[in-house]
Amino acid sequence: MPEHTGSAKEAAPAGKSTTALIRLEHVHKVYDLGEVQVQALRGVSLEIWPGEFVAVMGPSGSGKSTVMNILGCLDRPTKGQYFLDGLDVSAMSKTELAQIRNRKLGFVFQQFNLLSRTSALENVELPTVYAGLPPEERTRRAMESLARVGLSDRAGHYPSQLSGGQQQRVAIARALVNRPAILLADEPTGNLDSRTSVEIMEILQQLNDEQGLTIVMVTHEHDIAQFARRTLEFRDGRLRRDVGVQDRLSATAVLQTLPSLEEQDAADADAEAEQADQSGGAPEPKAPAYE
Ligand code: ADP
Repeated sequence: MPEHTGSAKEAAPAGKSTTALIRLEHVHKVYDLGEVQVQALRGVSLEIWPGEFVAVMGPSGSGKSTVMNILGCLDRPTKGQYFLDGLDVSAMSKTELAQIRNRKLGFVFQQFNLLSRTSALENVELPTVYAGLPPEERTRRAMESLARVGLSDRAGHYPSQLSGGQQQRVAIARALVNRPAILLADEPTGNLDSRTSVEIMEILQQLNDEQGLTIVMVTHEHDIAQFARRTLEFRDGRLRRDVGVQDRLSATAVLQTLPSLEEQDAADADAEAEQADQSGGAPEPKAPAYE
């Protein structure tokens, strides 16, 4: 049984729903490699309620990706059941799973996974094409989604013209465009610097706090998990700890304590000038900053 400290349930908005959005019942996953069988999950049971913000943690090989693949309907349990919004998805066909994925789930990845020759707007529109929305509605929804992540003015930019943080915001907009019930994020800040990571967490907290979006996010970083409401810790294919986050951090408040990019640039320039003074040489040329 997982250890429970604090009440994870208390973290969820009370009294809104009697159906868990996610329910895993004794889920096992075995990868059959012919000669060996890898037990990636060994009887995982958990519930996630509407409006929760859950951080999934644990060492490498503990089963986080496997559980996320199952939650994301990308893979099925070998044994046990998965109910998504009350529907038993463990026995569904691949086509049915693809439909559920498109309707109910939004995905955000560490590597952003944007199409490079396609504008931010077109990247965000893509899931609406699969959902069969009419063209005007696609553009309207995509612009609305970009506005939610503060990127209305970057709709025509290509990924290479955007900073890492902006690319991740486009990826979040893409994940939101079909109005999913759940956002699944796999190490969303894994490729970003500290300040940009907190900016991404600010967007996720706003979506969770203001719009009640349910979020499940894998992270290695304890600091990042402190922005969630609840943490699930995996070890050796088992859920070992399921706890409410005590003293949850507000990303907006943390950002006020961090230097802005301009302040950081000015501090870096000062440090370089000081170094050049000491060594008598010219400072190294800097890579151009993003807009
Ligand atoms: P984590 O995401 O916590 O690093 P994973 O879910 O990727 O853990 O892996 C759990 C276990 O399952 C590990 O022992 C890993 O080697 C194994 N595993 C994961 N995916 C596969 C796969 N496709 N084929 C075989 N073994 C796998």
